[in-house]
Amino acid sequence: MTARIKNLCVIGTGLIGGSFSLALKQAGGCEKVIGAGRSEETLQKAQQLNIIDSYETDISAAVKDADLVFVSVPLGAMADVFEKIATGLKQAANEKAVITDAGSSKQQVLQLAEKIFTFNPGRFVAGHPIAGTENSGPAAAFAELYNNRRVILTPTEKTDDDAIRLVTELWQQAGADVETMDAEHHDKVLAATSHLPHLIAFGLVHCLENIDDIEDVFRFAAGGFRDVTRIASSDPTMWRDICLNNQQPILDMMKRYKDELDMLYNALDAGDGEKLMEVFQHAKQTRDKFTH
Ligand code: NAD
Repeated sequence: MTARIKNLCVIGTGLIGGSFSLALKQAGGCEKVIGAGRSEETLQKAQQLNIIDSYETDISAAVKDADLVFVSVPLGAMADVFEKIATGLKQAANEKAVITDAGSSKQQVLQLAEKIFTFNPGRFVAGHPIAGTENSGPAAAFAELYNNRRVILTPTEKTDDDAIRLVTELWQQAGADVETMDAEHHDKVLAATSHLPHLIAFGLVHCLENIDDIEDVFRFAAGGFRDVTRIASSDPTMWRDICLNNQQPILDMMKRYKDELDMLYNALDAGDGEKLMEVFQHAKQTRDKFTH
């Protein structure tokens, strides 16, 4: 028996929240979706696109009848949004509502939730869909975003089992495969597989900005340049927040990568083709193994 809820409240109706809502509506997992967020213009757009059925500009008012509150705002806005959710749920005496989020790093979000959701302990389930595109806003949302993609939940020993079950089932209805892991492990893994690649992409484009032939760099950009830099078109606010929220694991990975680049620099400087060959062969084998 799969879960079906009456009222879904999505805070932040952009790519991630909008796609969750569209997927759940399509699967019949919820009856009504109310949206809330910072900008009325975005909420109107989300309503026009049938992502939400109605909206409130006041987050505390939006959550009062919610069975599930889905928070998909940039990480830097989470504290403020959590406070408003807590106020609204408390005023409505709705302590049974389950709250989940989609933030790209998990330890700091969990700390915030533990500090703020004190009247309804156990009802917050931290989550992170490993799906996305470089586009943002409601117009970027689509119902199939989560099809066969992983969603990682990072519950703690204090999280209610029925809350975990509900969030798991709703994500499954949205098309995703759900896994659970410890938040610290999540943040380390994501620093390596997502956060470092984004920093590399932003850094690569930025370091080329001021060279004389920039027009030609972009005019003759071949597949490799496009592949590696696609994600540099991602939203800067979101990525600033992710970096600041997952600072130490990302710094550890950056140090590793800097050492690797230094090693490659030295090998090339010394004309050491054997070393370059060894590194490229290993890297190719590793990637082929994990992607095929
Ligand atoms: P988005 O820009 O498409 O949507 C964010 C929404 O939050 C917008 O509707 C915006 O109006 C609203 N918002 C921004 N600041 C707010 C504030 N202070 N108060 C209330 N609402 C506010 O972004 P997105 O890609 O949907 O990302 C949302 C979350 O999902 C982020 O925490 C991000 O880390 C996470 N995430 C993103 C991706 C991805 O690839 N884009 C993947 C996984 C997780």
